[in-house]
Amino acid sequence: MTVESKPMASIQAAPQWVCPVCGYNMIGEMPDICPFCGARHNTFVTWDEAEQTYRVTPHWVNDYVTQLISAPRLGLEHAAYRIETEDGAVWIDCPSAFNRDLQPVEAIYFTHKDFMGASNQYRQLWNAKVYLHVNDAEHPLAVQFPVDKKTDGDFTEHGVEAFHIGGHTPGFTIYIYRKVLFICDYAFPPGPSMQLNPFGPKNETRKRSSRILEIVSERSLEIVCGYNYTTEFDSWLEDFKRLLGQAR
Ligand SMILES: [Zn+2]
Repeated sequence: MTVESKPMASIQAAPQWVCPVCGYNMIGEMPDICPFCGARHNTFVTWDEAEQTYRVTPHWVNDYVTQLISAPRLGLEHAAYRIETEDGAVWIDCPSAFNRDLQPVEAIYFTHKDFMGASNQYRQLWNAKVYLHVNDAEHPLAVQFPVDKKTDGDFTEHGVEAFHIGGHTPGFTIYIYRKVLFICDYAFPPGPSMQLNPFGPKNETRKRSSRILEIVSERSLEIVCGYNYTTEFDSWLEDFKRLLGQAR
């Protein structure tokens, strides 16, 4: 038997579908409805149609963070973020569309299980290591996606600090790199109408948010990166405190 190098086109082994309503990727046989948002299968697109239609577009947040979001927008997809650390580039969360011409990263750190995107394809293309908290990795929405490190608690790698919060999802993890907080969809929108994420266990989400406040209050941060926003930290913190009933 001879070993041949695989052409680019064979990157994908199993079929994969993308829900244009929420961006969820379905691996294997096409289900009748999207397991995440319930949209019907007649709207689903194949991963390679999605690659041609949706261009994952970087927007600079500061000189070491870029926000990645599709143009056109892929439904309710969550933004991913790229960090240029001194020790290689990494992502916080993962784009829904697979674009093989993006700049590679060494690791994909997930905030939670809801938006795994095309992480399985990027992992295969770049040999990137996928991180997700063990409590989320066991969830039915996440089990199809390969996870290299099922994390359990806080850790620091590539200079990126990870803090296990729980709440919105049992494994929810926030990240801090230098002056930037990655909060995903734990609280939104920025401004006076900020709310905690209403999906999941509401009481637990509120209870665990006090740990977020403890962590971020001790630091001098500048920017908050959320699932569909980036904003300045000080005003975000005031809104977050008010939300928790801890405004002065
Ligand atoms: Zn979520």
